[in-house]
Amino acid sequence: MDFEKYIKIVMDSYYGYFDYLVNEMFYPSWTNYFWWLLGMSVAVWLLEIIIPWRKDQPIFRKDFWLDGFYMFFNYFLFSLIAYNAISNVAVEAFNDFLALFGIENMVAIHIEAWPRWGQFLLLFLSADFIQWNVHRMLHRVPALWEFHKVHHSVEQMGFAAHLRFHWMETIIYKSVQYIPLAMIGFGLEDFFIVHIFATTIGHLNHANLRITYGPFKYILNNPIMHLWHHVKALPEDRKYGVNYGITLSVWDYLFGTDYIPHEGRDEPLGFDGVEDFPKTFWQQVSYPFLKVKKNENGKEGFPKAPFEQQVKVNETDTL
Ligand SMILES: [Zn+2]
Ligand SMILES: [Zn+2]
Repeated sequence: MDFEKYIKIVMDSYYGYFDYLVNEMFYPSWTNYFWWLLGMSVAVWLLEIIIPWRKDQPIFRKDFWLDGFYMFFNYFLFSLIAYNAISNVAVEAFNDFLALFGIENMVAIHIEAWPRWGQFLLLFLSADFIQWNVHRMLHRVPALWEFHKVHHSVEQMGFAAHLRFHWMETIIYKSVQYIPLAMIGFGLEDFFIVHIFATTIGHLNHANLRITYGPFKYILNNPIMHLWHHVKALPEDRKYGVNYGITLSVWDYLFGTDYIPHEGRDEPLGFDGVEDFPKTFWQQVSYPFLKVKKNENGKEGFPKAPFEQQVKVNETDTL
């Protein structure tokens, strides 16, 4: 194993991404994620202020600043702290592994010759369908649900709730997407417009706006549909969840996971026990690891104080 090569990849990832981030922040341009995210967030927020759906919801709603931090962290900072280095090392290690079997290139479908819009469409549809499936898994697999709960702990919906999620979700989504997208030979980030479009729809899905895009609601996810994804009281026969769509709603309609009984403007959001969910960024990102560890020991719930466990032991003793 060539460790020096990997250490160089880690160092280059840090320096490269740091330069990129500084450039993004201080040199605005038309293809600049930082200023696009900021500008688009302000635009959607202004819409929320001008034509709010829930009129009594404060402009600085519950967790506004927490979600704002999540937005910056998940879109930019996490890559600086860990993601870029980890993913570059993982990709290199994966390619080294493939090379053991004489595989030099994973690209199986050659779409470079396709028209640009065809490449866009194939990439966008495949990425969104994979995301829809991953999202369903986040709800179905108990250990993954613990991470996804961070996103579902939003109680007052607003645009910034879009990027309130645990950084493990980035790792999970990107890992699952890697192989199929590598076979096409493109990543979603390669297409600036697609990425910005998906981010805009995601912001709108969480915004305090009453929009459904008319007949396009069967294709595009929207605030009313996604609000039902976040409601606390799910129907008996759909206890894992409904409306898993990320950018597109079409998968939910095709596979029968759609659910919009009425507009649901004031439906309580969250999950059972959301009141007791940790409130700060650090508590929320460390919580799933503590909780998952606890589940492995076959115990449920938050870690108990030592004296509470003592009482339990005594109770069973007397039985
Ligand atoms: Zn969800
Ligand atoms: Zn959401």
